Amino acid sequence: MTHQKLATRVTSIRVSPSVAAAQKVRDLKAQGREILNLTVGEPDFDTPDSIKAAGVQAIAEGDTKYTPVNGTDALRKAVQHDFSTRLGIDCALDRICVGSGAKQILFVAMMATVEAGTEVIVPAPYWVSYPDMVVANGGTPVIVPCGEDVGFKLTPEALEAAITDKTRWVILNSPSNPTGVAYTGDELRALAAVIRRHPQVLVMCDEIYDRIWYADFRTESILGVAPELAEQALVVNGVSKSYAMTGWRIGYAAGPKFLIDAINKLQSQMSSCPSSISQAAAAAALTGPQGSVNATVKVYRQRRDRAHELINQIPGLSCSLPDGAFYLYPSCAGVIGKTTPDGKRIESDLDFVLYLLEQAGVASVHGGAYGLEPYFRISTATSMEVIEAACQKIAEAVAGLR
Ligand code: PLP
Repeated sequence: MTHQKLATRVTSIRVSPSVAAAQKVRDLKAQGREILNLTVGEPDFDTPDSIKAAGVQAIAEGDTKYTPVNGTDALRKAVQHDFSTRLGIDCALDRICVGSGAKQILFVAMMATVEAGTEVIVPAPYWVSYPDMVVANGGTPVIVPCGEDVGFKLTPEALEAAITDKTRWVILNSPSNPTGVAYTGDELRALAAVIRRHPQVLVMCDEIYDRIWYADFRTESILGVAPELAEQALVVNGVSKSYAMTGWRIGYAAGPKFLIDAINKLQSQMSSCPSSISQAAAAAALTGPQGSVNATVKVYRQRRDRAHELINQIPGLSCSLPDGAFYLYPSCAGVIGKTTPDGKRIESDLDFVLYLLEQAGVASVHGGAYGLEPYFRISTATSMEVIEAACQKIAEAVAGLR
């Protein structure tokens, strides 16, 4: 009965599949099962001490009140400096906003611009939340499949073909969750040229993993390589992943003034501002020494290399090498149609992932959740021991298929 009292914006969306997968792992562990968990979407490192100290200092100094809606000057200046020096984005302070996580900014940006009849182009595989954020705001996600043959990336041709006069956004995520692939500067420039031809289209670039980077080519942002998109591009980033600060909830964005003003206006009615303490810590993260980021990226790289090597040794599975982030997105096409020792046919990547959970005690997320099958996502935000043990168990489970 209660669901009849809920708005369609709630009943039409799903609980995030990665949150659901993490809950399943917790439930199984509570039942006493040992699970090797490869579903984790956050760093397994602790927030560096110097950043924690900045938060403690903010509390001690009474920096515990509302801040400006769009974030403290200190944090926005830190973001401005970071975007300018690292990515070549030149942006006035009033074009930068701060929110309680990148996720909140992405959602509020949609809320500010999407309504019934609005289309949002979402290249697949996509981060699980994008389509639901569109639907929650009454819009229509237009899913554009970007297969492994095109490196899991949106091509200018596919973008051009997907644009209609109802298109409001195209969402880019580089490096990507779930594949880890990143766009090169040239690829971004080619996409920017298409977007430029359609002034009604905005591009939302989610660059939350851009410091967790392994590729030989340099990290680029669409606004850095195509400054002519200043009135059409929203670049979203945050401290969650790079600085192991997921619980502090700070994200930020740079974009056109009309959009940043709209985001701020909505935020003024939603939450007033993000936590003052977390903003102080995030400013310290961006302006302080970057040694912790470099050290963690080194560890993530070792894990990526090892997981990539081990998965590719398993007959029936294959995996491309991620440019960044802490995920791998192996294909399981070679096991579809096979039969488990219990006589059940593996019809889909969901069947495969459930088989791995039951048979091998390995938790991962099926590709269907990210809109491109048959794949599964594994996270390397866990120890090398867990990664090696999990790959061994996956290999044994796959060997048991007939
Ligand atoms: N964007 C992507 C692609 C993500 O994977 C995540 C977290 O999983 C987020 C945004 C959310 O980041 P935040 O913690 O800043 O809200």
